[in-house]
Amino acid sequence: MITVKKVNNKIQKQPLKGMVDNVLEQFNSAADQINLHPSIRKILSITNTEIIVNFPVKMDNGEVEIFQGYRVQHNNALGPYKGGLRYHPTVDIDAARALAMWMTWKTSLAGLPYGGGKGGIQIDPSKYSKSELERITRRFTFALADNIGSEHDIPAPDVNTNAQTMAWIADTYMSTRPPAERTANQHVVTGKPAGSGGLKGRDRATGYGVFLTIKFWYESHNKSLKNKTFIVQGFGNVGYWAAHFLEQEGAKMVGVQDAYGSIQNPKGIKVEDLFNYTKANKGSLIDFPEAHQVEKDDFFSLECDICIPAALGNQITENNAYLIKAPLIAEGANGPTNVEGEKVLLQRGVTIIPDILCNSGGVIASYFEWLQNRNGELWQMEEVIDKLEKKMKHSFVRVSDYAKKEGLDMRTAAYCIAIARIEKAYIQRGIFP
Ligand code: NAD
Repeated sequence: MITVKKVNNKIQKQPLKGMVDNVLEQFNSAADQINLHPSIRKILSITNTEIIVNFPVKMDNGEVEIFQGYRVQHNNALGPYKGGLRYHPTVDIDAARALAMWMTWKTSLAGLPYGGGKGGIQIDPSKYSKSELERITRRFTFALADNIGSEHDIPAPDVNTNAQTMAWIADTYMSTRPPAERTANQHVVTGKPAGSGGLKGRDRATGYGVFLTIKFWYESHNKSLKNKTFIVQGFGNVGYWAAHFLEQEGAKMVGVQDAYGSIQNPKGIKVEDLFNYTKANKGSLIDFPEAHQVEKDDFFSLECDICIPAALGNQITENNAYLIKAPLIAEGANGPTNVEGEKVLLQRGVTIIPDILCNSGGVIASYFEWLQNRNGELWQMEEVIDKLEKKMKHSFVRVSDYAKKEGLDMRTAAYCIAIARIEKAYIQRGIFP
């Protein structure tokens, strides 16, 4: 029963559960579905390692500030821990735990030889200069020391981190190894610039994967994306590239929200125009001339065919799910829809392409980069895109077929496949000693 409503035109907000409660609820409902072995349920309900580091950094004005960084390693039954580093004020141990768990399910679903990890620093990077961010990143890498490693735990970009951040991490990590190990360790991170061990196409891989899952869904319903409308929350790496490929396919962007504001234009907002505008406007879409401002709380109620949350977690909840007009939600972000919000949406017949499938293009391309570095190869863009497309299609078909066969929503189906693969590994190997 939905009790949340607009009262006097204001949304009455309910306090939300934490992100870990959310991911554990999703996990437990899939675990019930596949009758997961009770010992493996216990193992997967906790994280293997949680690292909190406090480290000093000299600021441009000569003063020293102390920063807190996190790295949570959830599970490595299938291979080294893999997952992004986020620089944002909302980064804390709860967020890092939940995001690490999501990575375990995501890498398992994608059939990669990885486990799940996540971390970051609790900062607002817009308050620091580029040279301060470089020193913060290098000191964080030094503080993490041997808790990361090319065959142990491999970070990647996430919110407010990018190829430059990864290049600093790789350089710091390699510089602090014994001489014989230096050059062989550039795959300690993925998402590096293409000139420094990075993979051609890694920059667009997550957004391209988001686009592909939408396209596959439309194809499976014998529909075309031509003239379909979409809204995007978050116009960073994931949101921009997803919008770019959707527009190429003939779809129309009619609303965008970022950290600074929300805009709409039912006639369409040109993706490249907005991208160039935000680049020149410190990353913000505020005052973009070819659109109107919208109230933050009204963004998800915009008329459209596809809604793409591609910013932070816990954005679509019991407080606003009933406002959403789109019949399809494609989760570019990690954990954008909470369990209570999802119940409302499923009741209303909305389809959700879940994060662990929808945004898995990023970690799949990261895996290609890791292989490229390990094998001393240089892959071409066409090869990357072709391999990515094949892997995304395979995952999409498996999840949709499983969902249809078992009468489940796509998230539960994706979790069932992911968890069953980890269960199988534990059963084959047993528990030490
Ligand atoms: P980014 O830093 O490049 O962009 C983030 C965008 O979100 C920016 O436009 C920012 O203004 C906006 N934003 C921040 N706070 C917001 C708020 N409160 N409301 C609305 N917009 C807000 O980050 P990204 O790499 O694009 O990551 C976005 C999401 O995708 C995250 O949830 C991340 O975990 C997930 N993801 C990223 C990758 C990747 O390869 N980068 C892979 C998988 C999943």
